[in-house]
Amino acid sequence: MKEKVVYWLTGSQTLYGADVLEHVAQHSQEMADYVNAKMPVTVKYLTTCKSSDEVVEAVKRVNSDDSCVGIITWCHTFSPAKMWIKGLRMLQKPMCHFATQYNEKLPYDTIDMDFMNENQAAHGDREFGYIVTRLRMDNKVVVGYYKDEEALKELSAWCKAAAGIAFSKTVKVCRFSDNMRDVAVTEGDKVEAHINLGWQVDYYPIGDLVEYIQKVTEKDVDAMMAEYGKKYTMATKNVEAVREQAKYEIAIDRFCKDKGGYIGIVDHFGALHGLRQLPGLAIQDLQSKGYGFGAEGDWKIAALGAVMQYMAGQKGTGLMEDYTYDLKDGLCLGAHMLEVSPLFAATKPEIQVHPLGIGGKEDPARLVFEGIASPEAVAVSMIDMGDRLRLIVQKIELVKYPHKMPNLPVGGLMWKYKPNFKEGVAAWIYAGGAHHTVVSSELSVRDMVDLGNMWGMEVVVIDEKTEINEFKKQLLWSDQIWKSRI
Ligand code: MN
Repeated sequence: MKEKVVYWLTGSQTLYGADVLEHVAQHSQEMADYVNAKMPVTVKYLTTCKSSDEVVEAVKRVNSDDSCVGIITWCHTFSPAKMWIKGLRMLQKPMCHFATQYNEKLPYDTIDMDFMNENQAAHGDREFGYIVTRLRMDNKVVVGYYKDEEALKELSAWCKAAAGIAFSKTVKVCRFSDNMRDVAVTEGDKVEAHINLGWQVDYYPIGDLVEYIQKVTEKDVDAMMAEYGKKYTMATKNVEAVREQAKYEIAIDRFCKDKGGYIGIVDHFGALHGLRQLPGLAIQDLQSKGYGFGAEGDWKIAALGAVMQYMAGQKGTGLMEDYTYDLKDGLCLGAHMLEVSPLFAATKPEIQVHPLGIGGKEDPARLVFEGIASPEAVAVSMIDMGDRLRLIVQKIELVKYPHKMPNLPVGGLMWKYKPNFKEGVAAWIYAGGAHHTVVSSELSVRDMVDLGNMWGMEVVVIDEKTEINEFKKQLLWSDQIWKSRI
């Protein structure tokens, strides 16, 4: 992510003379360099804008630079905001307004009008903020001294989301099946997702993949088996079943690369003509390499998974499914029939082979492990409300398995819902949250809200502050607002 750049644009004007502008540039450089060291992306001071033409030139550069994912703006001095209108109307990337200062404390003993004129962020921030609000730009405002850890955390979340947005625009999902018959929540408007999120979602008949599978050589499979041997414990004698999955992994990866760089994959246990097993181990290992996966045709989750995995730096993130409750202890056991990412593993994953009750295929090889614990994680769902997409973000706590589950032949996670079991589950259901989610132990509610805001999407948050009656009202209002915005 450090390859991605966020440009720092400082606002000022020529009224205060060349000396002041020299200081403004020096301070901006120093501040941008400090912030850069704390961010997941590269932060670079670009320029100090003093006129409309300069803002336009800077924005042209920002828009055309493929490595640039957004801008941070800051007003060192007062900066008359009419000069920002033309440029901001052209801006095609996310913007964060950093309400900060070069000095943390006021120099009470020495302060004079020269100091006041050179350091008037409070003044400049308001002029700039007015025009941004007037333009109805849904930007982020981060407040605090530029070395303040809390402010930098906010800024860091925003940078991560900005990089996520740039990545999102490149996401292509390869569907080897349509959505599962009769299932509602995995459906959605693919054209809408393409327009608003940049996701290209394409269908290929599974037979096209079978041709790739047939071309995989025994030597290719040997190499993949060696890779599995390094990462996982072989806990089956049915090596043939494992080799079959290795073949699928190689073929899917080649297919996705050959066809133009698909980073999301969708299959369906009911559409596997020409395959002997449902891809399990293959899909699990591919998720650990950056692919997003959606089961039963769920392309929204495949794309969301790819974006979130990118933002999480390929750690602790992947497809999950709310499966079964422990009502006594207020827990949920999440898993899937096979395809749980090894990025969730707390124990070294074992390769095991077991029968699969549905799909009518041979026993598939899969990775089995206990999931990680994490005091803070998010479960994220994206649903189609008919007129828009809604992002639902729930704060959860991943907990250690309270008991061994020796007969559970899949990887899984266990969690507690926020604010508590009853309200957490009720809120999720009222919001229309799906059974398929992307869970991440690395991303925060803040990261996901920033991402959703940058997508211009309705974002519903369920966390420790959620109160169910207020939450229901919020859903009603939100529905009305979002209807009128679309
Ligand atoms: Mn499922």
